[in-house]
Amino acid sequence: MTTTTTTTGPTNGNPASASTTSLNHLAESLRPEFPLLSRELSGHGLVFLDSASTTPKPRVVIDAVSHYYASCTANVHRGVHGLGDEATQLYDAARLEVAGLLNAAPDELVFVRGATEAINLVAHALALTADDEVVFPASEHHANWLPWRVRAAPVPIPIDGDGVPRWEMIESLITPRTKLISVGHVSNVTGVIAPVEEIVAIARRRGIPVLLDGAQSLSHLPVDVKKLDVDFYAASSHKAFGPSGVGVLFAKRERMAKFGLYQVGGGMVAVNGDLGIGELVLRDPPFRFEAGTPAIEATIGFGAAVRFMRKIGMTAIRAHDVQMTDYLLRGLGTISGVRILAGDVPASRRIALATFVVDAPAMTQENVARALSDMFGICVSGGFHCTHVLHARAKLDGTVRASPHIFNTTGDIDRLVEAVAEIVG
Ligand code: PMP
Repeated sequence: MTTTTTTTGPTNGNPASASTTSLNHLAESLRPEFPLLSRELSGHGLVFLDSASTTPKPRVVIDAVSHYYASCTANVHRGVHGLGDEATQLYDAARLEVAGLLNAAPDELVFVRGATEAINLVAHALALTADDEVVFPASEHHANWLPWRVRAAPVPIPIDGDGVPRWEMIESLITPRTKLISVGHVSNVTGVIAPVEEIVAIARRRGIPVLLDGAQSLSHLPVDVKKLDVDFYAASSHKAFGPSGVGVLFAKRERMAKFGLYQVGGGMVAVNGDLGIGELVLRDPPFRFEAGTPAIEATIGFGAAVRFMRKIGMTAIRAHDVQMTDYLLRGLGTISGVRILAGDVPASRRIALATFVVDAPAMTQENVARALSDMFGICVSGGFHCTHVLHARAKLDGTVRASPHIFNTTGDIDRLVEAVAEIVG
């Protein structure tokens, strides 16, 4: 854990400043693509450091959404006219893009509303009962806690005082009743990457499927579901430069084949006869699990967002992330009165995200986040980040979370560090 000592100015005291040129190169080239970043907030140029909550959208995504509205508004997989064909083509192309990004087959991907719905779909489709145990870290986001609490018997993996799971305990928590191990690929609080290889190895030995909540990994790490050998992977478009209202569930083909039905309605049955008589003839996966009109424009935008990331390259994004992590941790580390959660975990094992507690008398951590916005034009998260159990167990009454991404420069981090130092002072 990093606790800090001196208050040197972040720009003149930051030991990472030597490498800032290469760190800023990618960000500077991408910033013009994000219209949001040119606005002001509270009389300052906007510093957006809240991508773990939702990312700004690049122009190509905004254009893809408005192109659908302006040029080919129509339903997909239903229309028998030219506009329907064009919309369907764009919609189907999005599935191919996501499949390419994840190294999945297109029919292993179900479009859903987001990571939350993807995890709920798995909980539903596995037909879990109150006797079925699901093992997951106590630090998880509510989206990877509550489905197991509501549908099964939750078995949380204990965490340390910084909210990092005690992974060495996972084997001791597995019983003959364990039906699933469900893990956040990257914690939305600490930014620490889960040891997926080890978890999957344990799960394979015990014949248990693994779900990876990729809400925080999709836009930060190269993700290859085949190489990771996970059974399920859940993610949201809006945290990966795409629109909100759409996300994806990857499920191995053999797993999806055994899924019980989720929602039922238009587009998922293959017959036109009397639905009240005889057996339903279901369409093949993934369409069987995509009842109703989907979020067409958002899905097309999701495809554009994935194309945008693949063009930059996930390896380049990751390289920026590692350097940015170092810079961020070192900058915050110069402020006395700031405690960074899991600050001693190296950049190679985390994404560019730092959650910290600011020692500012008479201010809650939400107040600190609000002050950063209202006084300095800096957007971060403040509060509990949908991880109340983590905060309760780590005895934290809220935290502040800064989560940069590829468009952030060292200048943005310097502004954050200066502002936090001023608030502490
Ligand atoms: N899991 C994690 C780790 C998250 O950070 C989030 C979003 N904060 C979710 C799941 C849920 O994502 P969504 O709200 O987009 O469904």
